[in-house]
Parts: sequence; structure tokens; C-alpha cells
Amino acid sequence: MDNPQEKLRTGELKLYALEKYMEADEAVKIRREYIEEATGADLSSIGKYTIPITKVVSRNIENMIGCVQIPLGTAGPLVVNGEYANGSFWIPLATTEGALVASINRGCSAISKAGGADVRIFKDAMTRSPVFAAKNISHAADSVRWIEENFSAIKEAAEKTTSHGKLVGISTYTAGTSVYVRMSYKTGDAMGMNMATIASEAAAKVIEEATGLLLIASSGNMCCDKKPAAINAVEGRGKTVSAGVFLSDELIRTVLKTEAELLIEVNMRKNLVGSARAGALGFNAHAANVVAALFLACGQDAAHVVEGSNCITTAEAADGGVYVSVTLPSLQVGTVGGGTSVACQNECLRMLDCAGDGKAMKFAEIAVSAVLAGELSLLSALAAGQLGKAHKELGRG
Ligand code: NAP
Repeated sequence: MDNPQEKLRTGELKLYALEKYMEADEAVKIRREYIEEATGADLSSIGKYTIPITKVVSRNIENMIGCVQIPLGTAGPLVVNGEYANGSFWIPLATTEGALVASINRGCSAISKAGGADVRIFKDAMTRSPVFAAKNISHAADSVRWIEENFSAIKEAAEKTTSHGKLVGISTYTAGTSVYVRMSYKTGDAMGMNMATIASEAAAKVIEEATGLLLIASSGNMCCDKKPAAINAVEGRGKTVSAGVFLSDELIRTVLKTEAELLIEVNMRKNLVGSARAGALGFNAHAANVVAALFLACGQDAAHVVEGSNCITTAEAADGGVYVSVTLPSLQVGTVGGGTSVACQNECLRMLDCAGDGKAMKFAEIAVSAVLAGELSLLSALAAGQLGKAHKELGRG
């Protein structure tokens, strides 16, 4: 194409439409040069990337001008004893937060020396919740009754749209004339948000036709996608998963440089009482740090850090040591779809043997184990740094 910059300036060519006329790399270069000129900023670093982008520009991003490179570190090996993840893993972590990888690494070391994280998945269901308008309260009540009595018709309509998605449950909620239908899906190895949305739209049509309800939006926020919400913490969304580890007194002293009772006290006063006093939804030290770095590395939807980092951390006295656990009620992960096939992110998933079909549960088990490592490390650093000092100096404890 002759003089694309001039055509962009005059509006003859739209910035978002460049890929229609040229190869993806060329389109990205021209767009970046246009933005460089418009902003006066040197964008040469974001112009250097190695990933193939032909599919990326059609699936993962619009108006692409380059790539932001995030430093990638690894923590491990982390021993995981799950139902799906069994073995020793190097955790890929993308972050610009110094000390984070070192901290998780120390937690991995403690867990692995203790024999590994004990991990289980308790629930697996992605939700989408369309909102409908009823004519009045009795219409809302009649409609809810129809929905609850006709699960199989709704399920049949939803499942026609997908070969992997399975509608496994429906909960209804009302507020005045608004009717919310929270649909829960098994989504195979996909995180499932697109899949559940498409299926729910088909299901909503059946509900509209049968009840006379009017569909207002395919998401009515009772899902509740990418917002901190008690419903996700209570009912679960995506995977509900827990990891725990028993640490002996000796291991706590030698690896974590603290003592069991100090760990328990920091967890109680900080993660439990402090979070309760603050009205926080999460009761943890820094689960979001680990979830964010792992999600960025592995092509997960970064906005799901909002729900994925909801975490309750416990530390209980056990014979000869302490049992520490984390529970993530709403961890949304996938090993197919979304950003999982972008080259760098796919390599990170492959580091964990978690790329592609049949790997989502394994990835969830590794993710929660990494969160446990992060929690252990920060809790013990706090216990050793502040409480430990007071313990020694003031004879407290
Ligand atoms: P997706 O990339 O939209 O879909 C997954 C696709 O993979 C489906 O078409 C599915 O086919 C297919 N598939 C092949 N092998 C599979 C397997 N083993 N397990 C499951 N599916 C398999 O992925 P998604 O997880 O549903 O959605 C992720 C994307 O949604 C992300 O990019 C995210 O940013 C975006 N998102 C969308 C919304 C929304 O409301 N639409 C909200 C938040 C995020 P079948 O369906 O035919 O089985």
C-alpha cells in the first residue's frame, strides 16, 4: 500500500483496519509508527517481539502496536500431591515486583521439603447469569418456578452451542421485577467465559419464550465476572480448590526461620482478624501477587485475578508443627482458548506440562500450591521479622 501513514492521517484508512490490507507484522509496524508520531514517544522497545502474531491479531487483541515484555522468573521446584498434578514443578512467574519470585521460591522450598502440597479440587463450574425483566412480582415468581421445573429443556438449549460445555446447575435470584438465572457450567479445559456466555444466550431464549420474561442482558452481574463478590466466595466460580501442608517445628526453624506459634499468631491477627475488621472479602497475605504473576505468564485472563485471588489462609497447631492451608473458592483457569495459545504463554504452560486438552485441573492444582508457597513465605517473614524479634527481646510468646 502506498503511503499508509498519510492515508491514516486523512482518515482514508482506519487504524483498526490495517490487517485487511497487509500482513499482521507490517500492520502492527505501521500502526506503531503512526502512534509514535502522534504521541512523540519512542516505541522501539515494544516493537521488538518474537511471537507469531497472525492468530493473535484476530483472536487476542485489536489495534496491536507491539508487545509489552514482562520479566519472567521461576520458583521451584514445587512438589504437588494432587489428584491431577503429581510431581515437582518449576512455576513460571511474570512480574516487575522485585522479591516476589524469591519469596515464592522460599515457600516452594519449605513445601517440597515437607513432602509436598496436599491439593484437592472441590468444585468446578463457570457461571453466567443473564438478567430478565418480569412484568410484576407474581410474574417473576411464576417464571422462577418454570425455570426450576424445566432444567432439562434449558440444559438442552445451552448444550447445543458447545461440544465441551455442560450445564450442571441453575440458581435463581430476584430483586423486584429483575430475575437473575445463575447458570453453572463444566467447561472442559477452557476457562469457559465465552463458552458459558454463548450457551447462556441460547438458554435465555428458551426461558424468554416459555415465561414471557424479557432478556435485558446476557450478564446480570450475579455471575459475578471480574468483580469482587461474596457470591463467588461462598458458592464458588471456576474452580474451588485447596492446598495444605504440614510443617514440622524443625522445618519451620531451619527453612522459614521462625516458630509454629508465631506463624499461627501472625495468621490469626493479620489474615483472619485484620481482614475481618477491614471487611475484606479475602483473608490472606498476598495471594493476588502469586495469581497475577502466574496468570500473566500462562495466558490466563488477567482480570480474573479479581476473583482468583480470593483466598482464605489458615494456620493450625498440629502435633509437632503446624498445618497451613489456602482455599481459593473462585479460581478461573484454562489450558485451551483465550491467551493460552500465544507463543510465550504457551511455553510457560508447557513448562508445567499444562498446555492443551486434559490439563486445566492439573493447572488449577499447581496454581493453588504456588499460592500456598507465597502465603507461607510472607507469613513466616513477618513472623520472623517482627514477632520473632519481639519474642527474643521481650520474652513474649
Ligand atoms: P474460548 O477461546 O472462547 O473457547 C474455547 C474453545 O475451545 C471452545 O470453542 C471449545 O469448543 C474449544 N475446545 C477445544 N478443546 C477444548 C477442551 N479440551 N476443553 C474446552 N474447550 C475446548 O475460551 P473460553 O475459555 O470460553 O473463553 C476465554 C476467553 O473469554 C478469554 O479470551 C477471555 O478474555 C474471554 N472472556 C469472555 C467473556 C464473555 O463474556 N464472552 C467474559 C470474560 C472473558 P466447544 O465450545 O465447541 O466445545
